[in-house]
Amino acid sequence: MNVFRKIGNAIARFMYGRNGMDQLNLVLMWVVLILDVVTMLVQRNHAAVSMVLYWLSMAGWVYVLFRMFSKNLSKRRGENQKFVNWVWRMKSSRAGAKERHADKDHKYFTCKNCKTICRVPVGKGKIIITCPKCGAQIHAKT
Ligand SMILES: [Zn+2]
Repeated sequence: MNVFRKIGNAIARFMYGRNGMDQLNLVLMWVVLILDVVTMLVQRNHAAVSMVLYWLSMAGWVYVLFRMFSKNLSKRRGENQKFVNWVWRMKSSRAGAKERHADKDHKYFTCKNCKTICRVPVGKGKIIITCPKCGAQIHAKT
């Protein structure tokens, strides 16, 4: 067995049962890398700022490594899932907002109870909308 394979196997054994890279870690790593670049750019003219950025990036690296080597898989997966869901929500709500803005015939209300978006026609005056999902009532003016 050559030495590279030995090292590879050792790493694989070490990483077994650990979280490794997930979407959240990948994004965090990019954020920290960008932070590092910014730190380098400002350190000549803004020593104090670059000091703060330096420690932020350090903390970032520690957190990334901690998540990578963590053996608490369910917790790490939960964090990652939350992050992925959040990104997805941001993406879809932005796309949805554009669409809703273009729609002049309807008004959109978000249910306070379950966050479902309800669509009603414009020009009906004061109405009470019953949420189709949870049945909560929304008082609205169209
Ligand atoms: Zn609802």
